[in-house]
Amino acid sequence: MSIRERKKRKGIRWCFFILSLVLFVTAFVYYFWFTPLGYRMSVMFHGFRELSPGIYVDKEYEGDRYIILKRINAAKARHSEFWGEVKSNPTIIITDDEKKIARLGGDHNAYTIAVFAVRTYISLSSSWINVDVIAHELTHAETHYRVFHGLISFKRPIPVWFDEGLALQNDTRERYGDTAWIYATDYTRKKVDLDAINGEEFYEGTEKEVLYNYIVSRYEVKKWITENGIEALKTLLEEIRRGGDFNTLYNKNKQE
Ligand SMILES: [Zn+2]
Repeated sequence: MSIRERKKRKGIRWCFFILSLVLFVTAFVYYFWFTPLGYRMSVMFHGFRELSPGIYVDKEYEGDRYIILKRINAAKARHSEFWGEVKSNPTIIITDDEKKIARLGGDHNAYTIAVFAVRTYISLSSSWINVDVIAHELTHAETHYRVFHGLISFKRPIPVWFDEGLALQNDTRERYGDTAWIYATDYTRKKVDLDAINGEEFYEGTEKEVLYNYIVSRYEVKKWITENGIEALKTLLEEIRRGGDFNTLYNKNKQE
């Protein structure tokens, strides 16, 4: 190989290296700055300070930080009472800044990533810092931990109605409660079609329709837990994690 050819090859190698580096840096910046999950994972670099382990508050936040801790602790107490043993440890992120809320992808929701370890990132703004909402999001985190831990998963192994219905077991807001269920189902006369709200369609539709989805899901899961018990619920989640089919397991337990 001539010196000229060798230089040419070296040049190509360098070009390739620099191009890969640029692509990597671009992907890195894009993920951590411009995707909701990436932004949540890197809040410490976006002007948030750790108030207490796992609780990040926007440094510009004007609300009362003592109330944040008080409500989170009350929600955690309700949450542990329901599960017995809590396995998840989600990160909670709080801001009232509209731009940051847009980057986070919501101001009262939970995003879970299940690659190597299961991590859930809960976003809240001051209007949602109440025990019901926090306990609801913590329940999503625990449910996701139980169905995903030890796995690398990008699929949804449980229907949305079940995930939301379970989260509502620790959310006592009346708009989702038993009285609301009686009205929503027209005194139990209206047949509920849970299969129609397995996926993202759960959140689509008018405000009334979405509210209906939450109400009927909470009631269905409550009924299942009353009939089968909390230990059966934990077993169900564990069997799903091991690859079991939700419908088969859920309905099998139902008839016992
Ligand atoms: Zn929810």
